[in-house]
Amino acid sequence: MSKNPFLSDEVDHYVTETVTRETDIQKRLREETNRLPQRQMLTSADQMAFLAVLVRLTNAKRIIEIGTFTGYSALAMALALPDDGKIIACDISKEWTDIAKRYWLEAGVADKIDLRLAPAAETLATLEAESFDFAFIDADKAAYDGYYESVLKLLRPGGAIAFDNMLWGGAVADPSEQDTQTRALRNLNAKLRDDERVDACMLTIADGIMLVRKR
Ligand code: SAM
Ligand code: CA
Repeated sequence: MSKNPFLSDEVDHYVTETVTRETDIQKRLREETNRLPQRQMLTSADQMAFLAVLVRLTNAKRIIEIGTFTGYSALAMALALPDDGKIIACDISKEWTDIAKRYWLEAGVADKIDLRLAPAAETLATLEAESFDFAFIDADKAAYDGYYESVLKLLRPGGAIAFDNMLWGGAVADPSEQDTQTRALRNLNAKLRDDERVDACMLTIADGIMLVRKR
C-alpha cells in the first residue's frame, strides 16, 4: 500500500520510472522486492527520493528506522547520509532483512546501517535520549502511537519524524472503517494535529506521510 491511490497508473509510472532519481542498485532492490508476495509493503520510489532530500536538507546524521523489510528505505536514507552518519534499523524478520543486507553491502553503505533484529519497542528502550535527528516509522500500524512516544524522547529538539501510510489507502477518512489499524492511524493523525510538542503536516504523497518536527 505505497502507491498514491489518487494517481492514475500512467502518472504513477511516469513519476516512478521517468522523473525519480534512483541508482541502479536501488532499482534492482525495488524490482526484487516487487517479486515477493509482500510487495505491497515496499515504499514508493518517489517517497524515498523525497525522504532522501529531507535527510540532506536537515543535515541529519543519526536516524532511526522502524520497519526495514527488504531495506529499500534504509538504503535511500543511507545514501543521503554523510560518511559518519548512522541508521539504527529495526525489524523482526531475518528473511527480509537478509535481502536488505546484500544490497546495503553492494551499495557500500552497510557500515552506516546498524540492523537490530528485535521488536522495535525493545530496541527503542536501549537508545539514548535526544541523540537522533530523524526517524522513519513504517512498521506495525497499531503500535505507531507507542513508537511515537518513545521516538519523540530520542529525538533532539528540531529533529523530525516521518510516519508512513497515514492515509491507509483512504480508510482513515471513511468512518465505516473501524478495524484496529485504521483506528490507530486515524487517532494518531488527530493526536499529532493537536500535539503542542511538535509541528505537524500531512503530505498526501504515496500513502500519506505525516511529517512532524519536535519543538
Ligand atoms: N520501510 C520498508 C520499506 O520501505 O520497504 C517497509 C517496512 S514494512 C511496511 C513493515 C516492516 O515492519 C516489516 O518488515 C515487518 O517485519 C516489520 N515489523 C513488524 N512488526 C514489527 C515490530 N514489532 N518491531 C520491528 N519491526 C516490525
Ligand atoms: Ca509503508
